Amino acid sequence: MEPDHPASQLVRLDKTRLWHPFTPMREWCSDEHQPLILTKGRGAWLEDLEGNRYLDGNSSIWTNVHGHSHPHIVAAIQRQAASLAHCSFLGSTNEPAIRLAAALVDRFPQDTLTRVFYSDDGSTAMECALRLALQFRSHTGEGRRNRFLVFDQAYHGDTLGAASLGGLPLFHEPVRDLGYPVTRVRSLAGLQALPAEVLDSTAAVVLEPLVQGAAGMRLWPPGMLSALRAWCDQHDVLLILDEVLTGFGRTGTLFACQQENVVPDLLALAKGLSGGTVPLGATLVTERIFSAFLGTASAPLTFFYGHSYTGNPLACSAALASLEIFDLENTLDRLPRLTQCLQDSLETWRQRSTHVSDLRQCGLIAGIDITRDGSGGNPFPPAMRMGARVCLAARKLGLLTRPIGDTLVLMPPLCVTEREIQDAVHALEQATQEVCPN
Ligand SMILES: *Cc1c(COP(=O)(O)O)cnc(C)c1O
Repeated sequence: MEPDHPASQLVRLDKTRLWHPFTPMREWCSDEHQPLILTKGRGAWLEDLEGNRYLDGNSSIWTNVHGHSHPHIVAAIQRQAASLAHCSFLGSTNEPAIRLAAALVDRFPQDTLTRVFYSDDGSTAMECALRLALQFRSHTGEGRRNRFLVFDQAYHGDTLGAASLGGLPLFHEPVRDLGYPVTRVRSLAGLQALPAEVLDSTAAVVLEPLVQGAAGMRLWPPGMLSALRAWCDQHDVLLILDEVLTGFGRTGTLFACQQENVVPDLLALAKGLSGGTVPLGATLVTERIFSAFLGTASAPLTFFYGHSYTGNPLACSAALASLEIFDLENTLDRLPRLTQCLQDSLETWRQRSTHVSDLRQCGLIAGIDITRDGSGGNPFPPAMRMGARVCLAARKLGLLTRPIGDTLVLMPPLCVTEREIQDAVHALEQATQEVCPN
């Protein structure tokens, strides 16, 4: 590329002025690295500055739901931007935020989750859930219950409180001794084995239902979620579900918890909430939690928490439009066929591959482990960064995704076609063949 080409100028500015998340910046800024500058999105496809097209294989870091630039969401955002882009949620309210809250509550059994508290993203939706749970305990005279039970390899976001619950050494070691008191368990059995003193000091248990995303798309055994709900009820422990990844159709149902007929006490939503267009988080709670914050006129029990952009009308109108699309396009009805297609394509690949050691799938979420010889016992040395190299090779074949270590992730938007799924799996297979030594 010519040095005075507009793209070269952008790349130079990016490499001298920006700092990217979760990114080793020495490598990013090196001369060899060609940053991908994306300019357009349409349906399941993204386009870069040079006109190359890529299937969005991880739904733009797990956010996109109905495809990029969906006309229904674009129109809603444009309409809202032209009338009111933002107003304070402290002391005033707005129509999109009201209607979205009602629409979200309507998606759950009557009189279960009844109140919606908005925030900005998954991390802050989780922060709200955690602080609400603690403050609930304090308001109900159970202040001794100030501990969270969390699972190994959990990921709940990057703000300090949310990160302190995390169980991924690479991400969470630096904040290990900061944040909330937590007790970590591996499984439901680990939880059931906890001594009574721990239970008695526990505010809530926190779980990514059905699938732990950042852990590498690790699946919980079927029945785990409903058994956990029963255990929580038995021990008066609140259940906080983090559906930041699993919400909005990704697992085959609108929410993952519906698959085991579970309703949590607190539910965190973000990522797909706005259809993957603008940042928005929401924490849904039961009336039992909410009513502990009512207090009296002389002794208000206020939740002193919020952000400047809480209840943002643009974001809420995008989220409302995204929810409407589920009905307009019968999105959920299309998912069983797509899920089956993904399963068949991955299975075909596994059968002829010498590198696929494990496949995990939940709805349209898939994690594919690659190893040297296709068995779990012989992984590539992490320094080879094989997962990243496979994804780079796949990019040249028109598929954009990002691995978690040597777990390849395939999680296309729900608007994807069967043909696109087959092509995406094929691109991953071809890229793996190219990159992995035999
Ligand atoms: C992405 C994610 C978060 C954090 O959401 P952000 O919007 O990135 O802050 C929290 N929990 C889970 C399960 C996630 O996948």
